[in-house]
Amino acid sequence: MIRITDILDKLYDYYPDADVDIIDRAYIYSARVHAGQMRLSGEPYLSHPLEVADILADMKLDPVSIAAGLLHDVVEDTHSTIDEIYNIFGKEVAHIVSGVTKISALPFSTDQQRQAESTRKMILAMADDIRVILIKLADRLHNTRTLHYHKSFEKRRIIAQETLDIYAAIAARLGIYWIKNELEETSFSYANPEEYERIDNLVKREQTERDKYVKTMRTLIQEKMDQAGISSTVEGRYKQYYSIYHKMRTQDLDFEEVYDIIAFRILVENVSDCYAALGHIHSRWKPIPKKFKDYIAVPKPNMYQSLHTTVIGPYGERMEIQIRTKEMDLVARYGIAAHWSYKEGKTENINTANTFAWIRNLVENQKSFGDPEEFLENVRIDLYPDEVFIFTPTGEVKSLPKGASPIDFAFLIHTEVGQECTGAKVNGRLVPLPYPLKSGDIVEILTTKGHHPSKDWLSFVKTVKAKSRIRHWIRRQEKDRSLSLGREMCEKGFRKYKLNFNSLVNSREMEKVAEEFNFKTVDDLIANVGIGKITPLQVIRKFDPSLKDKKEGTLIDKFISRRRGKPRDKSDGVVVQGLEDILIKFGKCCLPVPGDPITGYITHGAGVTVHRTGCINALKMSPDRQIDVEWKEEDAGMFPASLLISGYDQVGLLAEISTAISKANANINDVHLEHQEDKNVNIYFTVIVNSIAQLNNIIAKLKKVPTISEVRRT
Ligand code: MN
Repeated sequence: MIRITDILDKLYDYYPDADVDIIDRAYIYSARVHAGQMRLSGEPYLSHPLEVADILADMKLDPVSIAAGLLHDVVEDTHSTIDEIYNIFGKEVAHIVSGVTKISALPFSTDQQRQAESTRKMILAMADDIRVILIKLADRLHNTRTLHYHKSFEKRRIIAQETLDIYAAIAARLGIYWIKNELEETSFSYANPEEYERIDNLVKREQTERDKYVKTMRTLIQEKMDQAGISSTVEGRYKQYYSIYHKMRTQDLDFEEVYDIIAFRILVENVSDCYAALGHIHSRWKPIPKKFKDYIAVPKPNMYQSLHTTVIGPYGERMEIQIRTKEMDLVARYGIAAHWSYKEGKTENINTANTFAWIRNLVENQKSFGDPEEFLENVRIDLYPDEVFIFTPTGEVKSLPKGASPIDFAFLIHTEVGQECTGAKVNGRLVPLPYPLKSGDIVEILTTKGHHPSKDWLSFVKTVKAKSRIRHWIRRQEKDRSLSLGREMCEKGFRKYKLNFNSLVNSREMEKVAEEFNFKTVDDLIANVGIGKITPLQVIRKFDPSLKDKKEGTLIDKFISRRRGKPRDKSDGVVVQGLEDILIKFGKCCLPVPGDPITGYITHGAGVTVHRTGCINALKMSPDRQIDVEWKEEDAGMFPASLLISGYDQVGLLAEISTAISKANANINDVHLEHQEDKNVNIYFTVIVNSIAQLNNIIAKLKKVPTISEVRRT
């Protein structure tokens, strides 16, 4: 079993000033709470956290990471709690341990292949501290190294497949290729033992010849570099079994066709030597077109840099050659970890890392890092800032834009689920529908049969799907409403001319009428009557040509002519929910002016009547006919409002009143006086105003007149 002192020695090697007190305490604590537990290998459980801590030291991580590595399983596997870790080791360690525990508890679906990408993204998005991921990778690496202790082959296979799908891919994403490679090679042998065996045999069959070939080629390349005066190291390496397998499978190739089982790597001093070396290689061996890739000019997102080329070798074989600097090679091996692993004594290299866009996103404060701790403190993982990853109750992962609500989630599952959504539970608790979902949330949608989307949902949904479904539903509802309104208007209009609308509606004549008005269907015609684009009389005329010259006499026609006159000459001033161009009337009982709270009622054959909210006549209407209306934002037009003014009847009172009204830029439309006893008088004014603000201004001015005792709207 590895000893804690070995790990500390490793740490002192790359971080001589490290304060190891927290590691000592974590070691003692971990040993105490894990006491008595065993690994499948038969070793004391403590061996596992120690090995994990050792891998973290191989990654050259800071003391806090190593302490957290020693403690990574205590909350999950012992009586220890996060609170206790917080109290003993502080916020930072507790935060990391809690992150590792949270990821371990994720309910993975059994269908890993399909879920792998989302799960990877979710893990990365959930960890707000990169060290959570690095510890998780070290944990999985040690578990993979000890996978053979699992007795069940099926269990080995499942764990190995999960490692390939999720953890190896995360290591690749972070550019930590040494962990990716080891995870892949070991897991491949468990996940697909037959294929692993087959490739192993094929590779070993001509081992001696291959070894000879590698030696020859290395010498040839090295000579070429030396002649050109480029200081270099040439490596020849066998490709990983897993990458051979992957290539054979994804490109449907035979083993013999996977030419680059051996690949060469040339390490040089600087970037210009990379391109110089490439030139010399290409002058000596013919390059294969389109195989050249310049990852120096355009680095991979995980900051990998290298030149890749494939040439025809001296025996007519294809040779894959990578050319890069030693620094780039460190980055290729350690990925993000290289950022602090190679900086000892070479401070200028820190700045080269800053040129990588990817690491720039990771590092909030990139100015300068004194030591690994300071760097790590500034590293926050932010790989998928615009997405959240959500679980269904059955463990499926769904991705949504950041800020998405349970409604978005519901529509993502199924349109019907979205439409009938009446509530949501997140992690078992009821939440309001606009609740912003977070990565890792388990969301359950509550539905009620026959429930409908609400217009309000549009104010908080984030996905295109939810938005378009809700809008679609509103439009359909709009059409239904105009259709029933139009039908009602037609029935009434037709009756007036002794025609039966319901018996005519399905006739061929009605179809022809619809065509004459350029509508596709009779329903479209009726809906357009409903929204006021066509009057019932225009339709009736088609059935009774004798009506052609008669004066129009329906309510609507009267209304239209009234509407064209004063005072409402500009527009109706009101928008009806979901309906365009509907006929609008204003209740004479309450005379609403722009700014008043209002409500609308669908009236028989005459569009919508707008009342002030609370108007006694409105309250008497059937709620079925109620429809939401709003004032148009600006320039609603001029509106009548009536005022009751009570005051002492003396000479000049009327003059004072009319001065106050005209000072407020309003006109008087009508005046009516009622004399009371005691020389008091009630004066009923109708004034024309454009807004409630103007009306209130008039009322305020009138109240200042000493002889006036009361002013109110009637
Ligand atoms: Mn573990």
